Amino acid sequence: PANPKSGQPMSDLVAQILAETGSSPAAGDAAQPAYVPGSKRCCWSKAHPSDDPLDDIVNGLVAHALGDKQPCTVCPHSASSEEVAVSDDEATTLGDGVFASMDEAVAAAELAQRQYLFCTMAARKRFTDGIREVILSNGTLERISHMAANDTGMGNAAHKIIKNRLACEKTPGIEDLTTDALSGDEGLTLVEYSPFGVIGAICPTTNPTETIICNAIGMLAAGNAAVFSPHPRAKKVSLLVVKLINRKLATLGAPANLVVTVQEPSIDNTNAMMNHPKVRMLVATGGPGIVKTVMSTGKKAIGAGAGNPPVVVDETADIEKAARDIVNGCSFDNNLPCIAEKELIAVNQIADYLIAEMQKCGAYLIKDPALVKKLEALVINDKGGPQTSCVGKSATYLLDKIGVKAGNDVKIILIETDKDHVFVQEELMMPILPLVRAPSVDDAIDLAVELEHGNRHTAMMHSNNVRKLTKMAKLIQTTIFVKNGPSYAGLGVGGEGYTTFTIAGPTGEGLTSAKSFARKRKCVMVEALNVR
Ligand code: NAD
Repeated sequence: PANPKSGQPMSDLVAQILAETGSSPAAGDAAQPAYVPGSKRCCWSKAHPSDDPLDDIVNGLVAHALGDKQPCTVCPHSASSEEVAVSDDEATTLGDGVFASMDEAVAAAELAQRQYLFCTMAARKRFTDGIREVILSNGTLERISHMAANDTGMGNAAHKIIKNRLACEKTPGIEDLTTDALSGDEGLTLVEYSPFGVIGAICPTTNPTETIICNAIGMLAAGNAAVFSPHPRAKKVSLLVVKLINRKLATLGAPANLVVTVQEPSIDNTNAMMNHPKVRMLVATGGPGIVKTVMSTGKKAIGAGAGNPPVVVDETADIEKAARDIVNGCSFDNNLPCIAEKELIAVNQIADYLIAEMQKCGAYLIKDPALVKKLEALVINDKGGPQTSCVGKSATYLLDKIGVKAGNDVKIILIETDKDHVFVQEELMMPILPLVRAPSVDDAIDLAVELEHGNRHTAMMHSNNVRKLTKMAKLIQTTIFVKNGPSYAGLGVGGEGYTTFTIAGPTGEGLTSAKSFARKRKCVMVEALNVR
């Protein structure tokens, strides 16, 4: 390509810059001259750092002129096409972003982020695309999904494959970082999204790998380094994902340790991360406890907390479709997603028909009060919350535990109850769906607002009455509101739009993406560059 200013071919320009700075392009490849190993750094690997700040600028210019695609000839992992692999045995060993202590992990991430400041936007795109690629290739999607289900004992591996793919394919990248320009007699002002620095991200057991993939893409797109604090139950698969990302980034010439974690995730290590002075922002994806903790640290915090998503069905809805969507949404990954249908409010007029239709598509209706009590005893703990050992288990598993043999076509357990029942009030994260009747659609909407508990998380409504859909959307104030579809449409499965696995109701960012992990900064050029 030609330099638009001078008409000089870009390759000549690169050769000129290299000559001026004491390097020369490799012979025989005029279009894409290779970097010459030696005194100049050609990527951001720690293996051959530069001590001259001018080098950074020159290397940046050269990389930019080359379209930033040139593989490093010095680093051991330099070719971007290189296959990246981490064996099961290697997953929890030190190295490739896994550190013995939180102090070491944060120090490494800080160094990486300082180097990353000098990478181009093209490089950021390449690195975030690399994260997508490494998970989507070599059977990794299937491997991490099965491993997550096995390690945590929660969820459904086939559905986790869908969720991990979604995180790779639909998480926004650098395109999310739009620049505002304001010009006038007094010059030109740019308002741009700029990185926070090192971000500490706490991940839930329910979406361990999805959260790392999604946050890593968003945080790196915004120019940050990320320190992950996985749930101890998801340790192996979380460390594996961090390692795969690091190895892939190394092949692309990224600074080492842009994504890090510790070998032994624990509450102590999470606390050490939250209190570390070099960690400038905290992102907690989890229950109310950890969200409250990050919000009380005094640091910039994003809290993506619990939900209790209601689904309302009124008399105008397409009942057959509503029944199907509700059973599918509620049973997705055994109801682990924070957005999944947790209680159903049906207008009395259509409730019996809805129940019958739901039974046709995999709902097992329990009517016997003694059996409901047995189920309560099984799934509710002493504190009145969900029993951890039952979270994310299948409907057939739970039914089996209370002595009911059901076929594999059973997807959810349906129980008709009143609004005060523990199954209605608590976020169970199991495929148990309590149904509450309401006399009218207005009553149903009011009840849904009450049962959402002000989480501002997610709600669904099946209706063909646009006024009532609008009324519920306005009153419930959830980050995600799905109309006439299963809850997962709100994540981007069968619904338009980008995805996120960190839905920040409490702190207001809502659907987080790269710009949520950035600060708005203003650059003001006075009395110039206004060409109007
Ligand atoms: P959890 O709150 O038990 O744990 C979340 C993370 O916080 C884990 O890594 C855990 O180790 C850590 N943690 C918890 N208490 C801590 C403490 N006192 N000190 C330090 N670290 C602590 O949640 P979970 O069971 O892993 O995940 C399920 C919860 O997360 C549900 O409430 C679900 O709704 C919510 N969730 C929300 C979103 C969202 O985007 N809003 C996404 C996924 C899950």
